[in-house]
Amino acid sequence: MLPDAVANQIAAGEVIQRPASVIKELMENAIDAGASTIQVIVKDAGRSLIQVIDDGKGMSEVDALMCWERHATSKISSADQLFSLNTKGFRGEALASIAAVAQVEMKTRQADEELGRMVCIEGSKIKEEEPCQCSKGTSFSIKNLFFNVPARRNFLKSDAVEMKHIIEEFQRLAIPHAGLAFQLYHNGNELFNLKAQSSRQRIVGTFGAKYDERLVPVEEETDIVSVMGFVGKPEFARRTRGEQYLFVNDRFIKSTYLNHAISKAFEDLLPEGSFPFYTLFLSIEPHLIDVNIHPTKTELKFQDERAIYAILRSCVRRSLGRFNIAPSLDFDQESSLNLDAYDENKTVVPPSISVNPNYNPFDSKSTQQRSSDPVEHSSSSSSDFGATVSPSPRKERDGNWKELYAITRELESQGRNSPEDLDFAAAGAALEESQKEAFKVDQHTDQALFQLHRRYVVTQIRSGMIVIDQQRAHQRILFEHYLGVLANHKGSTQQSLFPETVSLGPSDHALISALIPSLNALGFDIEEFGQNDLIVRGVPVEAGGLSAEELLERFLDSVKHDADRSGVPGKEDTAKSLAMGSSIRPGTKMESEEMRSLVDELFACEVPYFSPRGLPTIITFTLEDLDQKFKR
Ligand code: ADP
Ligand code: MG
Repeated sequence: MLPDAVANQIAAGEVIQRPASVIKELMENAIDAGASTIQVIVKDAGRSLIQVIDDGKGMSEVDALMCWERHATSKISSADQLFSLNTKGFRGEALASIAAVAQVEMKTRQADEELGRMVCIEGSKIKEEEPCQCSKGTSFSIKNLFFNVPARRNFLKSDAVEMKHIIEEFQRLAIPHAGLAFQLYHNGNELFNLKAQSSRQRIVGTFGAKYDERLVPVEEETDIVSVMGFVGKPEFARRTRGEQYLFVNDRFIKSTYLNHAISKAFEDLLPEGSFPFYTLFLSIEPHLIDVNIHPTKTELKFQDERAIYAILRSCVRRSLGRFNIAPSLDFDQESSLNLDAYDENKTVVPPSISVNPNYNPFDSKSTQQRSSDPVEHSSSSSSDFGATVSPSPRKERDGNWKELYAITRELESQGRNSPEDLDFAAAGAALEESQKEAFKVDQHTDQALFQLHRRYVVTQIRSGMIVIDQQRAHQRILFEHYLGVLANHKGSTQQSLFPETVSLGPSDHALISALIPSLNALGFDIEEFGQNDLIVRGVPVEAGGLSAEELLERFLDSVKHDADRSGVPGKEDTAKSLAMGSSIRPGTKMESEEMRSLVDELFACEVPYFSPRGLPTIITFTLEDLDQKFKR
């Protein structure tokens, strides 16, 4: 038999993985205790202190000692009650687990008692216990989490990452309980101060004021489930999956299957690779679900999952339809290669494109212009959707990049396709070799560049043709440029006439604060302002064409995309995220000078063949490849 303390510590591993888990469990207990205000106070991202203070019903003298025992719960007393649950907790494990791996002080008092109880417990051992003066309700203070489990402590990520998890858990509980007041403080700073409010106000209070106009309400009542909540308008979809919240009976759950139902409802409304915002609340009779299949209770079993899938999908779809967000924009119609050869005898009819004037997933402002001028894309000069490609000042090349393509071939013929395989020394040698070769370049080669489906740049080389992914190429160019900026300490800032105030949601703000010095080194001019706002006086010259807000949002998307894997974003990661965020997007029309400078700059890069995330930027088709395809 393992001693209790050891058993508790082992079991704690399942429930308490990081500071955020403690916050989740204690907030859940406070909600179950009927609190109307819940305060969370955190120091050093929860490493040194976590306090959760509620004004709920408190505990009796006996319970104040009992609650630390494993399987001690006041919420159920028989197994069948599992199927009529209306509390968050029921396993009686959280407090036992927390006490096993931290130093805990609890004060609790019931409304009708004059004196409360104070209990100190550390590594599962009660250290102190006495009557005390305290306000009604319960307050926990957890010090030195994992003080006796150094391995766990060492696994914790940077403060920024741990705070991100804490904010996430906080939001997952604050969103469905809009009727309760919640506060979150970190190192003395107020991150959230949410009053009791309506569901919509709570979402706006949690994610920031600009979400108000982005929400489409969803409402559906059926025999097995009722669905309430909001989905985000498609044009505000993000490039990371972050802001998707599904609640079942006010409990945040993860379900790939149901998530798919919602994505399906958005199917043709979103550009590829973007994810809609949603907060949806499902209410289901408790006997139709099983919550007890996962230690942290974030997964559920439904009796009739397929029916719920179908209902969810159709009601989200219907809401989107009702708010006049119907699909109609077809990017494929704009392919510049689909044009017929010019015929003098034929009258020229401008191509007409059927667009819904109310819908453009990228930019609502350009919509009017589009519908009134259907051929505008043939005359407009630069990108309508994203940043423009501006030549980076670092590298002015004369455009004899064609010879460098030889290297692509060389690397490919040696079977080096992945960045891991890339031998830069060899590539460098090959480069020099090919530069000699440069003077022998076929002068008659047609240098025409054309854009394929507004995504690829295609051009001829001596041995065939290459296809360049415009977005990845631009990411590579910007990434190397920003690295150069960091090395030389001189970012060029494009100062704005009027400083822009950008309000981010509290979690985004927490994330970006730590990165401001790096961003400023890269050419931003950002200053923190008030609680959740930033003043942006300038952005890097290379990122022209995007508003500061858009740019920062895209930047954050990219940071989040990489955050879980790499932990603390360093300067180089910041450069990478900025490159990802400010690059041109698929769907951006490029003029031939823009394409030319893109290609020139790409081949002036140190690692032209791969994007900063290691994906190929260029694909080569040799004449032999093509000949092969035409053979039968
Ligand atoms: P569970 O929530 O699964 O019952 P916990 O270990 O989280 O298990 O809590 C054990 C018990 O301690 C709860 O059942 C409840 O009776 C009591 N308790 C915990 N937190 C509070 C609180 N904030 N206010 C009142 N009682 C609480
Ligand atoms: Mg609990």
